[in-house]
Amino acid sequence: MRALLKNIGIFVIAMVVLALVANFVRTSKNEVRTVAISELAAGIQRKEVKKIEVMDADLTITRVDGKTEVSRKEPTESLPTVLRAYGVTPEQLVGVQLDVVGQTGWRYWLGMLLPVFGPIILIIALFYFMARQVSGANNRAMGFGQSVAKEHVQDEKTKVTFADVAGMKESKEELSEVVEFLKQKEKFTDMGAKIPKGLLLMGPPGTGKTLLARAVAGEAGVPFLHMSGSEFVEMFVGVGASRVRDLFQRAKKLAPAIVFIDEIDAVGRRRGSGMGGSHDEREQTLNQILVEMDGFEANSGIIVIAATNRADVLDPALLRPGRFDRRVTVTYPDINEREAIAGVHAKNKPLNPEISLRGIAERTPGFTGADLANLLNEAAILAVRRAKKIIDLTEILESIDKVLLGPERRSHVFSDEEKRMTAYHEGGHALVSHLLKHTDPIRKVSIISRGHAGGYTLKMPVEDKHYHTRAEFIDDLAMTLGGYAAEKLIFGDDMISTGPSSDLRAATRIARDAVTQYGMSDVLGPRTFGTREELVYVGQGMADKDYSEKTSEVIDGEVARLVKEANERAKSLLVAHRGVLDRIAEELLKKETLEEAEFVALVGVPKGLAA
Ligand code: ADP
Ligand code: MG
Ligand code: ZN
Repeated sequence: MRALLKNIGIFVIAMVVLALVANFVRTSKNEVRTVAISELAAGIQRKEVKKIEVMDADLTITRVDGKTEVSRKEPTESLPTVLRAYGVTPEQLVGVQLDVVGQTGWRYWLGMLLPVFGPIILIIALFYFMARQVSGANNRAMGFGQSVAKEHVQDEKTKVTFADVAGMKESKEELSEVVEFLKQKEKFTDMGAKIPKGLLLMGPPGTGKTLLARAVAGEAGVPFLHMSGSEFVEMFVGVGASRVRDLFQRAKKLAPAIVFIDEIDAVGRRRGSGMGGSHDEREQTLNQILVEMDGFEANSGIIVIAATNRADVLDPALLRPGRFDRRVTVTYPDINEREAIAGVHAKNKPLNPEISLRGIAERTPGFTGADLANLLNEAAILAVRRAKKIIDLTEILESIDKVLLGPERRSHVFSDEEKRMTAYHEGGHALVSHLLKHTDPIRKVSIISRGHAGGYTLKMPVEDKHYHTRAEFIDDLAMTLGGYAAEKLIFGDDMISTGPSSDLRAATRIARDAVTQYGMSDVLGPRTFGTREELVYVGQGMADKDYSEKTSEVIDGEVARLVKEANERAKSLLVAHRGVLDRIAEELLKKETLEEAEFVALVGVPKGLAA
């Protein structure tokens, strides 16, 4: 599209230039005066004209005094006829030298041909350019069958090894086995062992799956063919399959080698689920992957590593023995791993010595490796922008917020009333959370808008948690509704804004999970209802709805009850501590942001008072 616009642009410019040239050609002799025929006739009668050159309709007049003038007549009439009409007698014309000349030379031809052929030539040129571009795309289309896999034969400098991957001890151990297979195939084949063909890395985005796969290749010193699942699926049916074929052909030539298929869920979704459009193409691609994996010998030295963050949607055929039968789960890093990852990414950055990596790890539960890399990078950029020599703690803290919540939007202008609402809203969250026992401590309250949030309340667990108790769910629910309850309490029903809608959605979700996934409802008992899939894939959810309509009513009832009770709880806490809420809101309006210590001092009562 852009190329087309560019071509049209060139075309327009060329036209303008051409028009100017043509105009120049025609008018270049017009530095001289132009006179009307009537004036010429009058001049002849006064005997001021010496010579007239007739060139078609153009007249070049040489006067007795040596000056030149030009004029025009009708092309069909002869000059004497025209002049006679203006009262010039043949006698008066006798003294004038009349030269009738044919146009000659390049100017004549250019003047004749340019207006006719110029545009044609330009249009042809335009078509030619466009055709070339299209055929470029076509050529690429013809080459679609070839894989676009990026091939990395890593050299010493860019090589990624296990040393670059912090933490992930178990994953690395499992993978180092693969490295050994690749390095010393014979050791295993001599023993009659079959080397695994496929290995699936599963884990949330940003946890280092791609990094791990590259590290395996780097450790083993073998080529690494990298292709993303979405790259298989192009606009033409059959392209994906032929790309797969080509990818494996190349791998066979390079063996031993690693074929890395990133985001395999893009092609490897469970077949026949009928979700998403072009699933024919996807299924063909997936089939081809299966065929290729079955096709090569177990000991050919090719190992296929695939990565996905949606292992639950993968086609079971992919996971059968002989295919991706080895699975390595990559999880969110724990506090020690976060410390190590922060160390890897802090290596080339001058940090203020007072910053401890441990401290960063403590403040970043739930961060992935990618988040941590991003955090340190943001901090470095901030330090540069502030013309600092080293990165200070303030930059780190600000970057944590930025990674968590998106960039600050100071430019967003709030009215005073909106600010007051936000202050009470965030104050409500923070106060309810502080008064309850099973919530995480408040780290920061702010009415500076970030990303989509009008303000934010940051809470953070003291340690990493893997299980949540029922009491925590109940308190969390009340805390989530704290903002809504505060707005309602202070500003009344009529003034409730659209602000808390995401809170309400979050609360509903917490309640629903507690009831349907964690068996926390006494009425429904200890079982799950539906799969979590259901929330994402409605169509699939139909099939997976493993409970009756009647039960679904009970679930709705339970969810509504939990949310309502939590709201009541939040409200009564806020009513009981109305004075504190006002203080927090006032302080927030003044300072915009309250850090943990300021907040605790302001509240004045110990955490978990209302338990
Ligand atoms: P995924 O493929 O799981 O989405 P990536 O492998 O692309 O994640 O990781 C993104 C980035 O995060 C990496 O390039 C790296 O900078 C950083 N990262 C993730 N995990 C780690 C780790 N364990 N050690 C060091 N850096 C990591
Ligand atoms: Mg990745
Ligand atoms: Zn809120």
